[in-house]
Amino acid sequence: MKKLSLITLALVCALTTVAQEKYVMVIHGGAGTILKKNMTAEKEAAYKAVLTKALQTGYDLLKSDKSSLDAVEATIHVMEDSPLFNAGKGAVFTHDGRNEMDAAIMDGKTQAAGSVAGVTVIRNPISAARAVMEKSEHVMMVGPGAEKFARTAGLKIVDPKYFWTKERWDGLQKAIKEDADKSVLDHGSKKSMKLGTVSKDYKFGTVGAVALDNAGNLAAGTSTGGMTNKKYGRVGDAPIIGAGTYANNATVAISCTGWGEFYIRNVVAHDISAMMEYKGMNVDDASKAAIEKVGKMGGDGGLIALDKNGRASMPFNTEGMYRGTVTKDGKIEVEIYK
Ligand code: ASP
Repeated sequence: MKKLSLITLALVCALTTVAQEKYVMVIHGGAGTILKKNMTAEKEAAYKAVLTKALQTGYDLLKSDKSSLDAVEATIHVMEDSPLFNAGKGAVFTHDGRNEMDAAIMDGKTQAAGSVAGVTVIRNPISAARAVMEKSEHVMMVGPGAEKFARTAGLKIVDPKYFWTKERWDGLQKAIKEDADKSVLDHGSKKSMKLGTVSKDYKFGTVGAVALDNAGNLAAGTSTGGMTNKKYGRVGDAPIIGAGTYANNATVAISCTGWGEFYIRNVVAHDISAMMEYKGMNVDDASKAAIEKVGKMGGDGGLIALDKNGRASMPFNTEGMYRGTVTKDGKIEVEIYK
């Protein structure tokens, strides 16, 4: 009997240890048809190195008592400055051969938010989103207006050529050749191909970060080039507050990646917060329910979520999602496949 209760105690302790793992930051680098067989060892190492550097950057700030907003912005800079991800430097091309980027950031404490869409010369769109939140009375700015504002806010402006990369350009040429009339989602799946509205394409990489700081404040940010071959001013879910990005200290911080139109129509990020707020659901059940809903409608992708207690969830309905976590004591983990 005594022996049994000791075993029970050990089991409970083990379970509690797992359940009590506290995360301070979760990131993603896009969801999609990411298969090990299509990846070289060098490429995989390169992705993991940038994800690790991004997490370390955010962690160092959080550890030194900086805000979750600072951590989210700096972490996203690392991924925006890498050509590997579909954000900033590695942004995909529109049908017209331009790089038009979207980004958003939200402060869980005040529920202030800022976003930009369709910007072409701002080196780090996530910083423009933050400037809109902190230095204007607005939430969202688009195109040349957002760029004019970024200039006045003193942000780094670059020649649009800065965003040109061969891999993304070749991706556009392939997409145009395959089907000039279809938009190629940056993470096509068999299901989406069946719907006939997006073509198969094996590139990925919208980036996002959610963080919880020492003061207990949550923040979320997302940055993307959107979809290869997107047409005529198309805007995705990333800069739409409540769709691709959302943070609320009372519940959760969320950043989504996937077929943006479905995330907008399902108001995914806010939906998760609402399930937690009104139904008392936990972060994992709410996140999974939202992704299931997207999938049932025919959309694909994933998301990262971090709740006010440091519990994380990273569901996706694609073959893979670049993702990573860091715990309160600095343990970094990065993953790519299912
Ligand atoms: N959600 C982004 C968009 O639709 C794309 C992505 O996540 O890769 O613009």
